[in-house]
Parts: sequence; structure tokens; C-alpha cells
Amino acid sequence: MRTPRFCPQCGGPDLQITRPAGDTHDRLTCQACGYIHYDNPKVITGCIIEQQGKYLLCQRAIPPQAGSWVLPAGFMENGETTEEAALREVWEESGVRADILSPYSIFSVPMINEVYIIFRALALEITDEYGPETATCRFFAPEDIPWEQIYYPAIRQILARYISERQAGIYGIYVGNDATGKIHFLK
Ligand SMILES: [Zn+2]
Repeated sequence: MRTPRFCPQCGGPDLQITRPAGDTHDRLTCQACGYIHYDNPKVITGCIIEQQGKYLLCQRAIPPQAGSWVLPAGFMENGETTEEAALREVWEESGVRADILSPYSIFSVPMINEVYIIFRALALEITDEYGPETATCRFFAPEDIPWEQIYYPAIRQILARYISERQAGIYGIYVGNDATGKIHFLK
């Protein structure tokens, strides 16, 4: 989150980092009106959509990582449930209308204050009417997946696990973080 330079409540410039009474964290606080700026993690939701053994990936048209392949996913908006956000992102980025089957992977990336919630979902309709963030999208058989062009290690890991689970017909639910091997960003 971008740190405000002026108080969103009174417009004053005197913002300082202090520990409010009874709080466990330091916060940016307006010295004029007492407004406290809470800066909390962002939630990103998305889906793995498998159809007849093929997996939906989208190729990004815009930065970051233009040209890379990703699962359809994005930031949750205010007023949405996690499921609604995931299905909206799928629709915007792939033009696929989908339904949630179950949660699949929840992982935290505390270094960048993000939480990812990935669902298993079922494609109901494939329209090819995706938004400007996507260059193209398609369903890949496992042997055709462009692993090297999937930028995020955690997404490669989630997809590989899903493919092996599909062969067994049993799906787990996973919780992880970037400190225990479920790395999200390569440095
Ligand atoms: Zn203020």
C-alpha cells in the first residue's frame, strides 16, 4: 500500500509513525486529528481450471512480467467474497465463466504483505472475450505447459501438484508460505 503524505481524514500534513495506546504495531498516525492509517496485507484470489486434463493459463499482455504465463488471478476488491473475486478475475483475464469446486491453496508471502487464495474451479463457458491484461489464454496438456515461462515459483508448484493429484483423483488443500519452501518470488 502506498503511504499517504496527507491525512485522508483531515488533509493535514503531520503524519508520524507512533504506537497507538493498546496497539501491538506502530502505525502512521495523524497528529492533528488522531486518524490511524492501518496497512494490512492484500488478498489475491485465482483459480486452477482443468478441463479434460488440460489446464487454463493466461499470457500476460502488460507488466509485471509481460509475456509470462499465469493462472488467472488478481487483487480482491472491496465488497467481494473471495469466491466472487476469483471468478471475476477468471472472467476478466480469460473470458471463461467458471464455478468454484473447492479451495486448493492458501499461501502467505509476508515479505511483500500478500495472501494468495487459489481455488479449484470448473469451466462452464469459454468465450475468448478476455480483457486487455491478457495477450492470449489457452488450455494446456501437462506436457505442453510452458513451465519456464510461468514466472511465479509457487504457481509452478501448485500446478505441478494439481496435475499429479488429478492422476490419483484425490485433491488436497494446502497452506504455505515463502519461508517453508513455497517460494513465491525468485530473487
Ligand atoms: Zn488528520
